[in-house]
Amino acid sequence: MDGMALGKDYATQECSIASALEVIGERWTLLVIRDAFYGVRRYNDFLVHLGIPRAVLSARLRALTEQGILDKRRYQESPPRDEYVLTDRGIALWPTMRALGVWGREQLTQVQLRVFRHAGCGAELGAYNECPACGTIVAVPDVEVVPGPGLNRDPADPVSRALLKPKRLLQPLVTDPV
Ligand SMILES: [Zn+2]
Repeated sequence: MDGMALGKDYATQECSIASALEVIGERWTLLVIRDAFYGVRRYNDFLVHLGIPRAVLSARLRALTEQGILDKRRYQESPPRDEYVLTDRGIALWPTMRALGVWGREQLTQVQLRVFRHAGCGAELGAYNECPACGTIVAVPDVEVVPGPGLNRDPADPVSRALLKPKRLLQPLVTDPV
């Protein structure tokens, strides 16, 4: 058999879902993006929250930067340290992330781990990021994430602990020193 037929991409698919999966379909990629929405920016914070091998995290961050989903920014010169921030192209994935979360909860877990609210009024968002109280689709920076009834209130890692407090999406996550 021709090796091309066993390729790991979807080059033969004329489909925009296939095109999207070329960029976000690898294991861990969507969870890196999820954490970026929660305000995780630094390598070690992704590492402790995701619990993934360093090589995998490095590869995912590199690919997402190359695809224009994350912007790599130097925040310290010696030693050199970079942080990763969602671009507009990355932020445009929010409805997809929300839809996957709602589907996972309704069809698989039946557990609400996090609640997404309209920061302006405190109402819980609907499945399409609409605020039932204000009658608007809520922009990503105005979405507040708070712990849901199913969330572990005594997590081990500093990122999970920081996420026990209500916070707006995209705002840099501040972790307590260990
Ligand atoms: Zn509202």
